[in-house]
Amino acid sequence: MENIYTMGIDVGSTASKCIILKNGKEIISKSLVDSGTGTTGPARAIESVLKDCDLTKEDMNYILATGYGRNSIDWVDAEMSELSCHAKAAHFLFPNVRTVIDIGGQDAKVLRISEQGMLTNFAMNDKCAAGTGRFLDVMARILEVNIDDLEVLSAQSTKVINISSTCTVFAESEVISQLAHDSQICDIVKGIHRSVAGRVSGLAKRVGVEDDVVMSGGVARNKGVVTSLEEELGKKIHTSPLAQYSGALGAALFAYQKFKK
Ligand code: ADP
Repeated sequence: MENIYTMGIDVGSTASKCIILKNGKEIISKSLVDSGTGTTGPARAIESVLKDCDLTKEDMNYILATGYGRNSIDWVDAEMSELSCHAKAAHFLFPNVRTVIDIGGQDAKVLRISEQGMLTNFAMNDKCAAGTGRFLDVMARILEVNIDDLEVLSAQSTKVINISSTCTVFAESEVISQLAHDSQICDIVKGIHRSVAGRVSGLAKRVGVEDDVVMSGGVARNKGVVTSLEEELGKKIHTSPLAQYSGALGAALFAYQKFKK
């Protein structure tokens, strides 16, 4: 039997992700470029995912785009909202998932999932940078640390500094003032993670949190945020090394389903 190849493309606000699936279950290639919609990021991610598995666009049986900038690619076979794609990927990776917390570059979403893996309800914050990856990106810049160092720094914290402002701009001033008072960077980082966790848990409580809880999106790569959210919700949170690829993975899974139909 001939193999079926499907591609999922997630054109995010800050990063472009692609996944190629073989026969709807085996990930044979993935790519991530740290620039999103309105840049060359999506084209570079597509080129790289094909190159890695030595296939061409013409070898793809079905291509599906998702994410904030999905409308910017007009040659795909179909498009789908990232809500459905994140739900799909979470169910594929963790069959017992009932709640997905997806924190991306400019929004945060909490999804409720049925036993069959269908999206049943959601809450979303796309109005304010607080509680999103953008908040962490801004804070990392002020602290002059890399985004991937936040996790290690927060683990070193011995005294949590409370960041009381919910607004990113005011929180930025608060962090600058803490730096001026010689507070330890690791304690400030822990406070920043707690702030994100507080915002997102408020969102989660609007739709209810039921086990198993899975975190997807780029911010799931930061275990410091995952730990703060676990503390805030009082629940274990499952993450996968594919967390940031979840939108693309869900898109590739839907592409397979659509091709089979
Ligand atoms: P989008 O789909 O909106 O582009 P993503 O789900 O790709 O967003 O997440 C992007 C966010 O992930 C960034 O804003 C950043 O805060 C976070 N992030 C990216 N890489 C890392 C990393 N190595 N460690 C921690 N956080 C990261």
